[in-house]
Amino acid sequence: MGESRSKTPVLFESFAEAISSLEKLTKIESKIAAAIDSSRVPWKESRKLLKCMNTAQVSNTSLFQFMQALFFQMGLGKLEILDVGRFQFTFCFKECEICNLYRSDKSGKICFITSDALLRFFVKDVDLPCSVEETKCQKEGHGHCEFKVDLQPLGVYKIALDAVDGAMIDQIISSKFDIAKFAEENLMEEEAVEYRLQVLESYQIVDKDRKITEIGSTYQKFAQGLRALEEDFDPPWKSLSEITSAIAAKNSFAEAMNETLNPEPFFITVDKSEIVNLTEEAKKSKSFAELISKYVKLAE
Ligand SMILES: [Zn+2]
Repeated sequence: MGESRSKTPVLFESFAEAISSLEKLTKIESKIAAAIDSSRVPWKESRKLLKCMNTAQVSNTSLFQFMQALFFQMGLGKLEILDVGRFQFTFCFKECEICNLYRSDKSGKICFITSDALLRFFVKDVDLPCSVEETKCQKEGHGHCEFKVDLQPLGVYKIALDAVDGAMIDQIISSKFDIAKFAEENLMEEEAVEYRLQVLESYQIVDKDRKITEIGSTYQKFAQGLRALEEDFDPPWKSLSEITSAIAAKNSFAEAMNETLNPEPFFITVDKSEIVNLTEEAKKSKSFAELISKYVKLAE
């Protein structure tokens, strides 16, 4: 991400267009901050996402459906899931709202704000350390913008397995594990136990023969301590309407800020000295100035 950020493309055809896009970005930035502030997800829900093995399963999780609602309300567009790997999710936006802010074409990858929102959501709300990279962008001529989220394996192991998995691993280690017996003891269908085994295999806790691996026995030594860190609270989608109004409030706050910052309409033709003055003005507002330095390459 750092590398692409340093090659900032020229995105705007006019200064007026730049300002109008920056105002919209400022609003989106406020909405992202409000959304992320109020959307902490309990591990029991993150775990359901981490146990998904295909995109259909991901689409069915409450967490993913919440993300779709949240990212749409942030103003980033409709989030979709393209691919699931052991420590990786590939998301996309087919109608990327960020790309729609810029008229100029083929300027390279530009959706830093979306990468950043995904990063902050996973790290702060889902409690999964990760890195996020935009791998395809509509502004490069692709049909959609694509984002790869690479999860830190230790963070995944911390959350992905619960106490039932732990009991299963214990029995596997002591060679006492039997699917039918385990299902009966835990009041589960055998199919559900089989699915848990597949998850353990995908995380390399057990091998193809369902024998414990080195990762598995190491994991089990720390598992109880990790699970003790788990907090139980309601998932954020239980209070979606409150989050929605928090986002809306931030939006009107951003609007009010813009009104006081820009009491007069902008002129279409602006000379360079005016741009410099305006940049000086913008410095008074921290986030606006940050946006300018991120997204606009002023003429020399
Ligand atoms: Zn993009």
